[in-house]
Amino acid sequence: MIQRRSLRFTALFAALLIAGGGLAGSLAAAKPKAAAHAAAPVWPLAGDPTVPIEPRAAFAPHVMVAAANPLAVQAGLKVLKAGGSAADAAVAIQAVLGLVEPQSSGLGGGAYMTYYDAKTRTVTAYDGRETAPAGAGPDLFVGPDGKPLAFFTALLSGRSTGVPGAIAMLSLVQHEHGKLAWSTLFADGQRLGDGGFIVSPRLAGFVHGPFPESKAPDAVRYFSKPDGRLVVAGDRLKNPAYAASLRTIAAEGPKGLLEGRIARDIVARLHEGDLPSSMTLADLAGYRPRAEKALCNPWKTYVVCTPQPESSGVSLLQALAMLEHTDIDRRGPTDPVSWVQIAEAERLMYADRDRYVGDPMFVGVPVAGLLDPAYVASRAAAIGQSAAPTPPSFGLPPMAAAMGPDATSEAHGTSHMVIVDADGNVLSMTTTVESIFGSGRMVDGFFLNNQLTDFSFSPLNPDGLPAANAVAAGKRPRSSMAPVIVLDRSGGFVAALGSPGGSSILSYDLKTMIGVFDWKLPMQQAIALPNMVARGASFSSEPELYAPGVVAALKTRGIPSLGGFGENSGVQGIIKRKGGYEGGADPRREGIARGF
Ligand code: GLU
Repeated sequence: MIQRRSLRFTALFAALLIAGGGLAGSLAAAKPKAAAHAAAPVWPLAGDPTVPIEPRAAFAPHVMVAAANPLAVQAGLKVLKAGGSAADAAVAIQAVLGLVEPQSSGLGGGAYMTYYDAKTRTVTAYDGRETAPAGAGPDLFVGPDGKPLAFFTALLSGRSTGVPGAIAMLSLVQHEHGKLAWSTLFADGQRLGDGGFIVSPRLAGFVHGPFPESKAPDAVRYFSKPDGRLVVAGDRLKNPAYAASLRTIAAEGPKGLLEGRIARDIVARLHEGDLPSSMTLADLAGYRPRAEKALCNPWKTYVVCTPQPESSGVSLLQALAMLEHTDIDRRGPTDPVSWVQIAEAERLMYADRDRYVGDPMFVGVPVAGLLDPAYVASRAAAIGQSAAPTPPSFGLPPMAAAMGPDATSEAHGTSHMVIVDADGNVLSMTTTVESIFGSGRMVDGFFLNNQLTDFSFSPLNPDGLPAANAVAAGKRPRSSMAPVIVLDRSGGFVAALGSPGGSSILSYDLKTMIGVFDWKLPMQQAIALPNMVARGASFSSEPELYAPGVVAALKTRGIPSLGGFGENSGVQGIIKRKGGYEGGADPRREGIARGF
């Protein structure tokens, strides 16, 4: 675990470094805009007109897209211009992201989507989470000595891969809400795969980074040029195998991935090496995305919607509800007490989340109890003007069964997109291969996820109670991914946002919500606010981004040091304003918002 932490810190550092303008961009909260923009990277994009990465934010009257790479945003806008819906655009965006941002998401990964249907004013949660094969059991990540496997041993093994669900989920969403033919939505991904795309600074940083996934043989082979050197930012990288896989999926739908030749390639690759997977063709062919009513909770004058567990959206809703018991809305980002309140709400939230959230098909998750107003009020009573000297324990929400804390760890490969279409339909989708380049194993031009490492490695805790997030056959690992949609009390759309970031996702979403709704900031400024991630005894943040005096004041209020965190945020958000939509994209990564 120690090794993993230090690697995570290195990753943060590298990511800030290679993002070039990333750090400068995030300083926008504290420094004049011009200074932030001067250092921002602009790079030419393959076969397309130059797409500047600045400004990140946009305002447009009819439609808006915000995603983690400008080429993906362009692909989405093209679909919307052709009369496509948000669901259509999401397919095109995912097809490009899987190519240009393979460290984050792709054909081999999973996703969650929160979807607002403008006609019915309802919010549906789509769950495309990877699933453990039928042959997986509680000892999946337990070694022959009876101890949990080392994290990276597990991650790089065939066992880490769950049945990929992102494409099956998108197919379901597009079937229900699409306007264009599925087969037409992959054109940009195919063109960029065949003709090549320009490697971005962030991708190059991961290719050259000190990460076991980057050193995996498939990754090294893919990213090596004919002269044996690894690609660098600005190089053109072709991936005809990826384009061919897209053609198959375009023609056959998710069956093209989960049945037939590609499925056979996946199974074969997962059975190679030590610790092979038990995955079979039947596991792949049997994958079904879930669709259910989103989990919505009133907050202030709004209703906030997220996916149901095994997503941790319930915990974000709980933290928002706890903060309603404070005066944070009358304070602002320059008041140190605001950040204490955020940190304390997060510590309470994570303590409960880590205890109770798992796949509801397998464990009882006390959703109503966690959001019960009296329970929330009792938890919120612990939030003061200084951080408590000892980390909070989990609480006892009504209807909760006895569950042990678990040993779940989450890593760095995820992406978030938000889309509003011309009919006012909105989607918020977090998509992932879990770690950087997933398990580092590739088939047919794409990386396979290592999402099963999001399960608790230990099925039982030391007191013998079962972990809610223990491995089981056919189970979906708990996720921190929590794509948000905010409505007004009459069901009208107000905002959509979300982020990658492993377990920090909940904190990134929370901060952005407070920035936009309590402090009334523009979406872009809310995204650029410092990230504060407080969990247990650790407080992680970006000290250089606070207003003068805040860090010193936090020291006197029980937050003596602010370390680095594992994975920086990649928040994308859209808010409805008078006359149109305001979109924002996280300056810590390479995303942009654009509309028309
Ligand atoms: N796999 C993590 C989850 O589902 C997300 C990882 C990340 O954000 O990088 O919660």
